[in-house]
Amino acid sequence: MTQTQGSAVTETSFELFGRLENTGHEQVVFCQDKASGLKALIAIHNTVLGPGLGGTRMWKYSTEAEALNDVLRLSRGMTYKASIAGLNLGGAKAVIIGDANHQKSEALMRKFGRFVENLNGKYITAEDVGTTTRDMEYVNMETDHVVGLPEAMGGGGDPSPVTAYGVYMGIKASAKQAWGNDSLSGKTVAVQGIGKVGMHLLEHLHKEGAKMIVSDINTDNLKHAAATFGATVVNGDEIFDQNAEIFAPCALGAVLNSKNIERLKCQIIAGAANNQLEDETVHGDMVRSKGMIYAPDFVINAGGLINVYSEYTGYVRELAMAQTENIYHTILNIYKRASERNINNQLAAIELAEKRIHDMMLVKSTY
Ligand code: NAD
Repeated sequence: MTQTQGSAVTETSFELFGRLENTGHEQVVFCQDKASGLKALIAIHNTVLGPGLGGTRMWKYSTEAEALNDVLRLSRGMTYKASIAGLNLGGAKAVIIGDANHQKSEALMRKFGRFVENLNGKYITAEDVGTTTRDMEYVNMETDHVVGLPEAMGGGGDPSPVTAYGVYMGIKASAKQAWGNDSLSGKTVAVQGIGKVGMHLLEHLHKEGAKMIVSDINTDNLKHAAATFGATVVNGDEIFDQNAEIFAPCALGAVLNSKNIERLKCQIIAGAANNQLEDETVHGDMVRSKGMIYAPDFVINAGGLINVYSEYTGYVRELAMAQTENIYHTILNIYKRASERNINNQLAAIELAEKRIHDMMLVKSTY
């Protein structure tokens, strides 16, 4: 056992390279700057399809191991999201360890930007939980490898309307799978969380003549949804007990756990929230065994990523929307694969994402 000087980190407890081998990560960069207080990790998971793109999360992690786990898990998710969306992008993510409300400064963000610049375009950053468009403007003072900038700076602005459009496409494809017809007219959709994405989703559902039941912890959002779209408001997690054909989780992760799945009466689960399944295998299988169609989250919420990718290649909103519309066909393709392979939809989506990476690796194997 090797003990590093002045620290409790040991070779046997850390086993970093073994972990990276297991998760398939290419590179992890530790960024440290005492003057600005920067402590950040950049994890580049896979760049077969293109440069790794993923936002920078700033969070008060209680341990460095927790930050490392998060950046490894999130960067791998980005690889799958980019691949299945058909983008020429790899997966990466960054985390800054610290309190976004008290420890953020121009110096910290710009120093982080210099670390991003040092990667020479292998990593492209964007905003995420705990960072804002303003922070990305600071990052952009040190590197061009940043997306998610305001429209005034040539960026794509708020990606939420594009994300919501993709979710809407995913719901329609799921309706086609369930009922042979993708019309949502007269169908009831229970939406948990009507923030930036959820509210835009209501607009599409309303236009198509769907009935809506909503829950949120923000009463202003609830009032707006009831007044503008005639949505029925329910309290808290009563959203799980509604008689709705479709459940759209658009707030929190891990809502599809053993307890909540038992309560749901819907035929389709399709929403924007990230990491909806508490366990991809256990709960993906549980949903499937109950005869419900689950639209894999990282597939139907890819509109935001498509939007920032389009910023990287020269932003045109119409192009981003057209590419997001493809989510409809991608979802149907995943359902077909899941049925052929007799596996749950989440695992089928991961298989297809991995297959594209593998196929493209072979394409690139000759000059
Ligand atoms: P948001 O913060 O604007 O909206 C989330 C809403 O959920 C808020 O109105 C909040 O009050 C509500 N909420 C929180 N806890 C709740 C609870 N217990 N019950 C009901 N409502 C609750 O976020 P957003 O940008 O709309 O994103 C929604 C989800 O979609 C998040 O999980 C996000 O990670 C994911 N997502 C968003 C985008 C995007 O483009 N914004 C892209 C991909 C994924």
